[in-house]
Amino acid sequence: MIEFRNVSKIYKGVKALDDVSFTVGAGSVTGFLGPNGAGKSTAMRILVGLSRATAGSATLLGRPYAELACPGFHVGTLLDAGAQHPGRTGREILTLGAMMLGLPKSRVDEVLDLVGLTGRESGRTVSGYSLGMRQRLGVGHALLGRPKVLVLDEPVNGLDPQGIRWMRGLLHGLSDSGCSVLLSSHLLHEVEQVADHIVIIGRGRILTQGTVDELNRGQ
Ligand code: ADP
Ligand code: ADP
Repeated sequence: MIEFRNVSKIYKGVKALDDVSFTVGAGSVTGFLGPNGAGKSTAMRILVGLSRATAGSATLLGRPYAELACPGFHVGTLLDAGAQHPGRTGREILTLGAMMLGLPKSRVDEVLDLVGLTGRESGRTVSGYSLGMRQRLGVGHALLGRPKVLVLDEPVNGLDPQGIRWMRGLLHGLSDSGCSVLLSSHLLHEVEQVADHIVIIGRGRILTQGTVDELNRGQ
């Protein structure tokens, strides 16, 4: 569903990614783990067409993002959640997103319910949301078009333990329906709690990968 093949990215002499290869299978929740500056965002940005690889290829459902017909229906992304539209309410943001995908307004209510924001989303603008509420809204936005692949940059950041449990339930429900998820984090305990596979990256290189159990046994 997601494949990185020998991807490198060089920014003016800085090697942000160095020959990165890994795959995320159908129905897998894969955690992309590494410290700040390791290259996670760069890889995810390349995957969803926001940046270009210096070498190699990153594909979703067998194609580069730019070649997907109606990408919003195939791929949901959470990048820089909350940074956009701080002056609007969550409902307004989801309604705009639904309009752009040609979806009925009823989809907004379904998504608000799915991410646990029903009744909390309308009274104030996103600038007044907690980080956890912003993360829920960002994930809801990514889910609008019922995508087969989700790419989430630091989705657990800012969630309290209850929010992490909710996220785990949501991601596993999606995975049961065949959706593939790639999510990044710089915290092992966050990734362990929500993912079944982990890919570890450091200084632009893949260090190791495997199931959560395999990696725990290897330590
Ligand atoms: P992470 O998401 O794991 O924190 P990043 O992908 O943001 O890591 O960064 C990887 C490396 O690439 C870092 O050294 C960062 O400073 C550098 N980098 C990221 N984006 C750019 C850019 N647009 N221009 C120059 N260097 C960048
Ligand atoms: P490219 O189009 O070369 O792939 P990006 O679209 O990833 O580059 O770059 C996004 C912006 O981030 C650029 O305007 C870049 O100047 C800026 N940037 C510069 N240095 C860094 C850095 N160390 N970390 C993150 N972003 C950076």
